[in-house]
Amino acid sequence: MTEPADTLFLKIIRREIPADIVYEDDLAIAFKDINPQAPVHILVVPKKPIPCLADAIPEDHRILGHLLMTVKRVAEQVGLENGYRVVINTKTDGGQTVDHLHLHLLGGRALAWPPG
Ligand code: IMP
Repeated sequence: MTEPADTLFLKIIRREIPADIVYEDDLAIAFKDINPQAPVHILVVPKKPIPCLADAIPEDHRILGHLLMTVKRVAEQVGLENGYRVVINTKTDGGQTVDHLHLHLLGGRALAWPPG
């Protein structure tokens, strides 16, 4: 069995590279995006290195649910009472650049629709 690839986000989880961490528990970590696309732009990342949503397996359902509840918790924590957007870029056409599943939490201004 091949080992999962080491990822930028695993390095953040292991504190090998710095990040502005806003939340962490056994299953997930949340930190500020280094290139924010909105006044609030936070990434919510599972500690398990699932490469992308398309690679999730049925046994990951608890992690996937936990990620959404973590988004809700962090959104409340940072005061996004007017609302926010959650984005999961997936593979090439989805614009994914880091091959470790992550949810973008975007808010702090009215967001346009549709995205590009
Ligand atoms: P993707 O394009 O959906 O894969 O999103 C990857 C995100 O990771 C982008 O929004 C990047 O700005 C962000 N990013 C890349 N490197 C870092 C970092 O070291 N810290 C925090 N965010 C990062």
